[in-house]
Amino acid sequence: MPRFLNAKLADGSLADLTVADGRFGAITPAANAAGAPPGAVDLAGQLVLPAFVEGHIHLDTSFYDDAWRPHIPCTNGFDVRERVAFQMRSLEQAAPMEERAKSQLELCVGNGSLAMRSHVMVDAAVGLKHVETILGVREKYRELIDIQLVAFPQSGIQSSAGTAELLDEALKLGCDLIGGLDPANFDRDVNGHLDVVFGLAEKRGAGIDVHLHDGGTLGLFEIEEIAARTTALGMQGKVAVSHAYALGDITVFAGSDNIRDSWWPYGDGDMLNRANMIGYRSGFYEDCELEAAYDVVSHAGARALGLEGYGIAVGAKADFVALRAEHVPEAVVAVPKERTVYRAGREVARDGKVVDRAGRTGLRSAGLRSA
Ligand SMILES: [Zn+2]
Repeated sequence: MPRFLNAKLADGSLADLTVADGRFGAITPAANAAGAPPGAVDLAGQLVLPAFVEGHIHLDTSFYDDAWRPHIPCTNGFDVRERVAFQMRSLEQAAPMEERAKSQLELCVGNGSLAMRSHVMVDAAVGLKHVETILGVREKYRELIDIQLVAFPQSGIQSSAGTAELLDEALKLGCDLIGGLDPANFDRDVNGHLDVVFGLAEKRGAGIDVHLHDGGTLGLFEIEEIAARTTALGMQGKVAVSHAYALGDITVFAGSDNIRDSWWPYGDGDMLNRANMIGYRSGFYEDCELEAAYDVVSHAGARALGLEGYGIAVGAKADFVALRAEHVPEAVVAVPKERTVYRAGREVARDGKVVDRAGRTGLRSAGLRSA
């Protein structure tokens, strides 16, 4: 039974943790035993946080670990249709999707995310190709990270004939959620678009996560429409609105969205750094505000994704990150890169790199790439 000694908890206390069947079995005040007994890990006062939640990412369209692609700006301000067209062109020259997805996954695991929701493109041109590839990658990494997949109509539903049927097929193949894209601005048919999304969710018992870039009163109207349908179907807690530029009063969670793709060149797969950015951009200075920024990449993400057994508590999954910080506010400000990531109590990454069962870093170079 793995044991972890001298772990600093979020409240500043030192504790000893035991893990049984991948979950925390006991959390007791640190006994301060001299020297770690065999089989125990002395965390020596490192802060222990539940593993981060990457709430919104695109595993299929990233160019991370591929050739650098200079960002192409839109001709006349942000235009979703033009961005989709750029993306299709760039993807034609990209490295194989499976390789890019694996690189991105290991970047995220290395930085401490062990739960993730990825949108995967489905449209008339690519069909189910992306879904099939990413389903395969998810299977290969099942032991390292929990991944929810969203069947995402990147080219709209009404705008891309046959997409509704493909989305249905994607859910049948194993996607967990159905996505959507700017029902008003992209498909110019709010009801038609949402009829398909909610219809398929009901038919397949799937959750919903809609990309909504529409802002202002139009975006608010769409959020209200989505909320009304959610209530009517009793789907509270299973529906998310991503991006939501016209944000209402809903749980706020974070994701990298894209890491080096044709929409933007940013992204480092580090959710603690994302909390730092959220705090910096929002003018968060007080400890309680820094804790709120951290909540967005951890507990709020877990709520939005409906994760079971999240947190540092008896009975919760022993998926956690240990790092050098006095407390959560300091972790958000300092973003220590040196950290150890544990999945079900087993070390799976150290200082940004995935480690294999023998403790060697660089799983991909150790053979998983071709696995
Ligand atoms: Zn997105």
